[in-house]
Amino acid sequence: MIKIKVRKKLFGYNGEFWLDIDFEIEKNEFLAVFGKSGSGKTTLLRIIAGLEVADEGYIEFDGKVYFDSKKKINLPPQKRNVGFVFQNYALFPNMTVYQNLLYALNDKKKADEILKKVELYQLKDRYPYTLSGGQQQRVALARVLMRNPDILLLDEPLSALDQSIRSKLQEELKNIHKNFGLTSLIVSHDMVEVFKLADRVILINQGKIEKVGKPRDIFIEKPVSGKFSFYGEVIDIKESDIFNIAVIEVNGSLIEIIVDKEIKVGDKVLVGVKGFNPVIKKV
Ligand code: ADP
Repeated sequence: MIKIKVRKKLFGYNGEFWLDIDFEIEKNEFLAVFGKSGSGKTTLLRIIAGLEVADEGYIEFDGKVYFDSKKKINLPPQKRNVGFVFQNYALFPNMTVYQNLLYALNDKKKADEILKKVELYQLKDRYPYTLSGGQQQRVALARVLMRNPDILLLDEPLSALDQSIRSKLQEELKNIHKNFGLTSLIVSHDMVEVFKLADRVILINQGKIEKVGKPRDIFIEKPVSGKFSFYGEVIDIKESDIFNIAVIEVNGSLIEIIVDKEIKVGDKVLVGVKGFNPVIKKV
């Protein structure tokens, strides 16, 4: 388990405020920190990675202390077993995919194994500039996996990619998290992304935790009664024997509606109300 309790004074657009955060991450959990731009998400990740120092608090990984302001312990980034993936892939441009991985850890057997697992083996002798954005980001992930990080920190990792690639990579990221038995912490302001990836969400605002819960508890709004009809896209389906429950994104909000079995993830739908019941039509 990872325990994080930190405070740091930040200088935001509207003056100073305290980043004041206290939470834990279970092993193998995929946790998301969600919040508006400027709320302190990136700073939190940088503090965990050791790239910035908190004013007070502690960070502890399975009993190992990374940071403790009282005991004056502050391990440098290279002594923290943390994998960091940013929005811009940060690969070494003068090295091939393979060399990029070996730079992280000089173990060819492991590099082969990881490249095969993430289906990049065919690209191993290519240079980053010959790869698409999505491929480069997968290489960045593969490189981070070379060192078996205690935690994978993802800072808006997919936001530079266009929507269709982004959607595919979200699936892939989820699989990598599972197949490599990772513990992951993503910061994002993309609700759909967080909904798809995270087991649990911490909602922060101006440096403080506002809500913690499962994505559906944090994001899903109950449709209000009255006249309404709008277009949306199905982003998740929970199956049961008799009916399915779909999560639909409409104008940046998520709603949950019972649907019949024909509705699939990715369908564009029209949601309306008949009587007091929501109805849904494929468009
Ligand atoms: P987010 O990732 O949620 O957009 P950031 O963590 O990047 O938010 O930044 C939150 C605010 O804190 C910003 O206004 C930024 O200028 C400020 N900030 C970032 N780092 C520091 C620092 N080391 N000292 C003081 N203020 C900082």
